[in-house]
Amino acid sequence: MEQLFDLQKIIELRHELHQNPELSDSEFITAERIANFLIQYNPTQLIRGIGGNGIACIFKSNEEGPSVLFRCDMDALPIEEENDFEYRSKEKGVSHKCGHDGHMAIMAGLADLFSKKPPEKGQVVLLFQPSEENGQGARRVLNDEKFKELKIDYAFALHNSPGFPEGEILLKKETFASASKGVIIKLFGKTSHAAEPENGISPAIAMSNIVKELTFLPNENRFSDFNIVTVVYARLGEIAFGTSPGNAEIMATMRSYSNEDMQILTERAQSIVKENAFRHNLEFDISFTEEFPATVNDEQCVKDIEVASEPNDLKHRYLPEPFHWSEDFAHFTQKFPGALFGLGSGENHPQLHNQDYDFPDSIIENGVKIFYEIYSQIVNKP
Ligand SMILES: [Zn+2]
Ligand SMILES: [Zn+2]
Repeated sequence: MEQLFDLQKIIELRHELHQNPELSDSEFITAERIANFLIQYNPTQLIRGIGGNGIACIFKSNEEGPSVLFRCDMDALPIEEENDFEYRSKEKGVSHKCGHDGHMAIMAGLADLFSKKPPEKGQVVLLFQPSEENGQGARRVLNDEKFKELKIDYAFALHNSPGFPEGEILLKKETFASASKGVIIKLFGKTSHAAEPENGISPAIAMSNIVKELTFLPNENRFSDFNIVTVVYARLGEIAFGTSPGNAEIMATMRSYSNEDMQILTERAQSIVKENAFRHNLEFDISFTEEFPATVNDEQCVKDIEVASEPNDLKHRYLPEPFHWSEDFAHFTQKFPGALFGLGSGENHPQLHNQDYDFPDSIIENGVKIFYEIYSQIVNKP
């Protein structure tokens, strides 16, 4: 494919997005910037305010055919940027450390390409999805009436992947990215004078048992695949040497390759808390947050990406294991045949969510090409 989109202009857009990052649920200026940029390509339809600050840019053909969704994410992270290039983040403590600025740039390049080489059949929906990092955006988009009207048949997305050669397409059948879930545990006892702990109910022992039992939970002989529980926060009472503590709080993140294992982790976490609270006479509360299902790919769609990589000599490889991180694109693959795949960011590139990370502009072109070829592959299937 010859250079059919204006790469230089797309790189400039990427740098503007990088300089002006916004957190989940606050992608107002980003949405405005994207919408204004996309208008120049005269899409058939431009829908704003999907699932919050989301935007859908649609190119329709006059022929009957499938409705193919390509999705990127829009939000940045609460991380202070450590880079000092001239387009560094202008927002203190906020920056694009997951490369969503690059994902948006690829989608904008795709809009440029579809404006010049319009779809021959059906329609292409370029979705800019808000609030990926907090796990809210995909669900909100899917429940939005404006989105439902687009009647999606297939859904694809990519995530840039440090640790792999630049521009390489990373494929995985079945689970691509893990399920994850945050757990918040509260224990309630009774404070007393530190000189008379026997007059109170301290959650100290129950708390330390729960921390230990949750951490070792994946070793139990009941899971089918990889699982991990990481205790991320714990607090007991207050800093007061005269007081025996009356409450405690524990937070943990659970991860698994399969949704079935996540269900077992959830049930086991509940019973561990319940048993320990009961044994130590404590009241308790357990709740869950930031839930991401496992991203499970459709087998045929993975094959379609593989075939799409061939005409452009894009290198591809199959990953032996799913990624341990999660992606809320999982909600799309639960609903439509589709797939999430990786795009290598360079073997020695800083990892996602690291302070020195920056999306490599050198992989934009491959991102645009692979999406365009996936569309061709889907619509030209016999
Ligand atoms: Zn991220
Ligand atoms: Zn991300």
